[in-house]
Amino acid sequence: MISILSIPLDENSSFIKGCSKGPASIIKAFQSESSNFFSENGSNCGDQKQVCILDELELQSGGLAIKEIQIAVKKELEKGNNVISMGGDHSITYPIIKAYSDKYDSLNILHFDAHPDLYDNFDDNPYSHASPFARIMEKKLVKRLVQVGIRTLDNHQRNQVEKFGIEVIEMKDFKNNLSLHFDGPVYISLDIDGLDPAFAPGVSHPEPGGLTTRNIINMINQLEGKVIGGDIVEYNPTRDINDLTAYTAAKLMKEIIGKVMIS
Ligand code: MN
Ligand code: MN
Repeated sequence: MISILSIPLDENSSFIKGCSKGPASIIKAFQSESSNFFSENGSNCGDQKQVCILDELELQSGGLAIKEIQIAVKKELEKGNNVISMGGDHSITYPIIKAYSDKYDSLNILHFDAHPDLYDNFDDNPYSHASPFARIMEKKLVKRLVQVGIRTLDNHQRNQVEKFGIEVIEMKDFKNNLSLHFDGPVYISLDIDGLDPAFAPGVSHPEPGGLTTRNIINMINQLEGKVIGGDIVEYNPTRDINDLTAYTAAKLMKEIIGKVMIS
């Protein structure tokens, strides 16, 4: 089974809130009659024998919320399910990966984002959405982290990239039809602001000069490796235009689910 887990947490957002409303809007777009449930590889993501939409998590705050997310994901993994999580801000990826790394010891992460999210300390909040990949790498939870679409590296985060041996494909160096190969299980973490704001205006930190929707769909489908889960984060409906970003997020969710189904 593939479990779709809605995680409405935005308290670790550093600039503006709103992405706690993201999961409900993405699920609504996913279920909209404007499209069907098929991914481009021919998988039926609406098949209820294979895909289950879980109730939205009810969370406390601070470290308690982080722990609750980890427990919710662990529960699904113990049942043998793969989990696709809807954020929420990017802080949710750290507890999700904590649960995943208990099950998989040589995990790879493919991370799409405008931002590397590698700050050692941001606003004195260890769970900041600007820091999840610093937490993941310092605890050595994964074997390999590949970041794509990055266009905001500062000196501190360049040092972090070096320190943790992260592979960064900066947007300025990005080439179309990039095929990535991974040994072992792959988790896809998709920050919607990795897309250009022209394709996905509904985000809290629009960063022009980004990926197209097609770039990401092709990278997911051309990726060689076994995809075992993922998340879509940072969609902020309060900033959206005509639900465009909700439909984009739902489309990309179908592509990730479709990839998990054939992996
Ligand atoms: Mn991010
Ligand atoms: Mn981002």
